[in-house]
Amino acid sequence: MRVPVIAGNWKMYRTAREAAEAIRALRALVADVTEVEVVVCPPFPALPAAVEAARGSRIRVGAQDCHWEKEGAFTGEVSVPMLADLGCSHVIVGHSERRQFFGETDATVDRKIDAVLAHGLSCIACLGETLQEREQGKTLAVLERQLRGGFARHLGSPRLVIAYEPVWAIGTGKTASPAQAQEAHAFLRQLVGQMAGPEVAARIRILYGGSVKPDTIGSLMAQADVDGGLVGGASLDPSSFAKIIRFRG
Ligand code: PEP
Repeated sequence: MRVPVIAGNWKMYRTAREAAEAIRALRALVADVTEVEVVVCPPFPALPAAVEAARGSRIRVGAQDCHWEKEGAFTGEVSVPMLADLGCSHVIVGHSERRQFFGETDATVDRKIDAVLAHGLSCIACLGETLQEREQGKTLAVLERQLRGGFARHLGSPRLVIAYEPVWAIGTGKTASPAQAQEAHAFLRQLVGQMAGPEVAARIRILYGGSVKPDTIGSLMAQADVDGGLVGGASLDPSSFAKIIRFRG
C-alpha cells in the first residue's frame, strides 16, 4: 500500500511571514488527516519560519532545489546539509522550470538526487514532456530518456518519489486528463520494474503535477498508478490546498 504524497511547490511566492501564516492556517485545516504525507516547499528564505510553523504537526517542509556538493565556491547555491540543518525533510529536484530556465539537465538531476538521498532527505524528482514533444508523439521516449538519464541509480531508495509533470500542464490551467496521467504513470512504473525490479516498481510513489485543483484531484487519484500530487498554484491558498489534501472527501 503506497501512502499518498501531496506536496505544494510555492515557487517564488511567499515571504517568511506569509509562509508561516499559510502553514498555520493549513495545519488547522488538515489536523485530522493522517494517511497522507503532506509537504510544503516554500522559497529558501522562508524555510526556517516554515519549519517553525509546521513544528508538532504532520506537515513536512521541503526545498525547491539544491546543489549536489556539500559546500564550496558555488555563489548563490544551497547545499543539502544546509537544508537538513534547517529541518527540511524533502527537496524537489529537476522541476521543469529549473530545466527550462536554469540549465538543469538529466546529469545534474542525477547528481542532485544522489546528494539528497545521501544526506538522508526525501527527494521529489520531476520529469515530463513539453507540448511539442507530446504533439510529436515523443512523450514516452522523453520520459524514458529522463528516467534512465537522471533517476536510474536511485530507484532502489524508498526516499525517492517521482513526479510526472507534463510541462504543458504546469501553471497553464490545463490538467492532463486522468487517462493521460495514468498512461504516463503506468509506463513509468513498468519501466521502473524493468530497471529496478518488480518490488521497487510496486513500492515507488509517482505523483502527478500540472494545474491540479480541488476539483481535479479526485479523478487523478482514482487512477491506479497515481500516488499523489505536486501542486503549484493551488497550494498557495491554504483552503484549496487543504481540499486537495482531503481528496478522499
Ligand atoms: C508545479 O509547480 O510543480 C506545478 C505543478 O504548478 P501548477 O500546479 O501551478 O501547474
